[in-house]
Amino acid sequence: MENICILIVEDEQRLAEILKKQLEESGFRADVALDGYSGKMMAARNCYSLIILDINLPLLNGYDLCKEIRKTNKRIPIIMLTAFGTADNKIIGFDSGADDYVVKPFDFRELLARINVFLRRSDLREEEDIVRIADLEIDVASKTVSRSKKKIDLTAKEFALLEVFVRNRDKLLSREFIIEQVWGIDFDPSTNIIDVYVNYLRKKIDKDFDPKLIHTKFGFGFYFSDKEI
Ligand code: CA
Repeated sequence: MENICILIVEDEQRLAEILKKQLEESGFRADVALDGYSGKMMAARNCYSLIILDINLPLLNGYDLCKEIRKTNKRIPIIMLTAFGTADNKIIGFDSGADDYVVKPFDFRELLARINVFLRRSDLREEEDIVRIADLEIDVASKTVSRSKKKIDLTAKEFALLEVFVRNRDKLLSREFIIEQVWGIDFDPSTNIIDVYVNYLRKKIDKDFDPKLIHTKFGFGFYFSDKEI
């Protein structure tokens, strides 16, 4: 795991140092930026595997930094550290391009579980190089997605959700199952984050195309198929 480097953007120096130490003990490399501007510079200059991003930061706040990073890098997983934890703050975070969040104060094991969800090896890689469902194509190696030959840009979290759908295509999937697969265990199942993300994904891969691939099973969950089941 030596080549996996994580950027921590956090202005509470003590917390940043503890996080760096814990990440290093877990086998990662970690860099710290103590303000949003340095975070932006470091993210642009280096090839990080993941970014942990505080929201209240000097010079450039976490939401704006996240948007800046997303202008040039759609794929890097970004986990926000939020002290608020209300649904509104989470949605602002997701709208600015974050993939996940952890509410302060947090247990490092929870953060580590979230990190591992992003960094684990893609399960789809076991299968073919290109997965096709109807006119949807997923190039597993490059993580690129297209429909009717039109390239579709997905964030890391959207891709993770699509991956779970595709791996389990033609099967009914409960909300709990999807949350556990995409967001990791210990995620609060009462949030509507899954609906938010299914909507994001629907807009990108289903809205302008037929047949629809993401189907809602009311009161249960979702399934992914080119036919009704
Ligand atoms: Ca802060």
